[in-house]
Amino acid sequence: MSITLENIDKSFGAFSALRDISLDIPDGELVGLLGPSGSGKTTLLRIIAGLESANAGRILFHGDDVTGLHVRERKVGFVFQHYALFRHMTVAQNVAFGLEVLPRRQRPSAPEIRKRVGELLEMVQLSHLAERYPAQLSGGQKQRIALARALAMQPQILLLDEPFGALDAKVRKDLRRWLRNLHDELNFTSVFVTHDQEEALELSDRVVVMSAGQIEQVDQPQALYARPESQFVFDFLGHVNVIAGDLAGQRLSQGQAWVDLPEAVVGGAAQLYLRPHEVRLQLHPVEHANLPLQVESISLVGAEVRLELRPCGWDAPQLWEVGITHAEYNGWQPQRGDRCFAVPDVGHLFRPD
Ligand code: ATP
Repeated sequence: MSITLENIDKSFGAFSALRDISLDIPDGELVGLLGPSGSGKTTLLRIIAGLESANAGRILFHGDDVTGLHVRERKVGFVFQHYALFRHMTVAQNVAFGLEVLPRRQRPSAPEIRKRVGELLEMVQLSHLAERYPAQLSGGQKQRIALARALAMQPQILLLDEPFGALDAKVRKDLRRWLRNLHDELNFTSVFVTHDQEEALELSDRVVVMSAGQIEQVDQPQALYARPESQFVFDFLGHVNVIAGDLAGQRLSQGQAWVDLPEAVVGGAAQLYLRPHEVRLQLHPVEHANLPLQVESISLVGAEVRLELRPCGWDAPQLWEVGITHAEYNGWQPQRGDRCFAVPDVGHLFRPD
């Protein structure tokens, strides 16, 4: 079922939490809402669910206006960060709960409920735990039960608020993959909230990046990483190496450092943004750049050696980060304090407004 948001505004007293949010989510899409704390992700999810009402704007499900509908009438499924399972009920009873409390006319018969719960537990691969209580489950298992409980109502829209937030890294990764598969199999429309870039990029068909109550950019993960439209998105999606300086002709310079851009552009203040993989290191300056750096720290991340580097004779808002593989060393074994030079790729040029 598709979701359409039209010009949604939301204030809490004088505080404007969401401003003019418009978004189209086609049927079957898995969308991640990504942004720093306080950017309005949870508020937007609650408005889609009907747990919170907007001050202005419309919400449509499959083209039908649901703005005035109560949460129960919207028939969406939810999963929250803290699984909120009933402690005094077994796993099977938890999953059956939503069905049991339906008005009599809509409620399936007891054998049908049992059958459906059995199928759901099989789907989340936890049939063997049906008679356990939540306290006897791991975090990942509880989260899968919470998901089974949400799916029991056969929602066409599933909303997840930081569903894996409370779990450790390995379990999170496994659950992400599992959720992606489940989504593809059942083909519902899902919106999930996260502040974890990796999670958003790995799991989503499209990512909605939010900042201060507004949408910064909506794109597929690859496009978002490769073609960020603002410095905010660039910064938020990973480490960035910055050269902030003055442009004259082709040359961007600051202190002793300079880099020649591929072509001349209008002069003035500018910042060149480079991802760690867009920088190589050499022991001598190259023709198109003079960016002296000093090795500050060396760490091994998988097969890659990650260096943190301090600019020498120029300033950057944060240390530079460059990953190098052994094949590229050319005999150089980096040591703390070593001097080297950055060789930048094309990068992204940002100009002050
Ligand atoms: P987090 O990642 O920390 O959960 P978020 O992006 O989900 O953040 P929201 O929870 O949507 O952000 O909150 C957005 C802003 O609205 C915050 O500044 C928050 O303090 C404010 N806010 C949210 N709910 C209320 C409320 N009921 N009353 C007043 N202010 C609220």
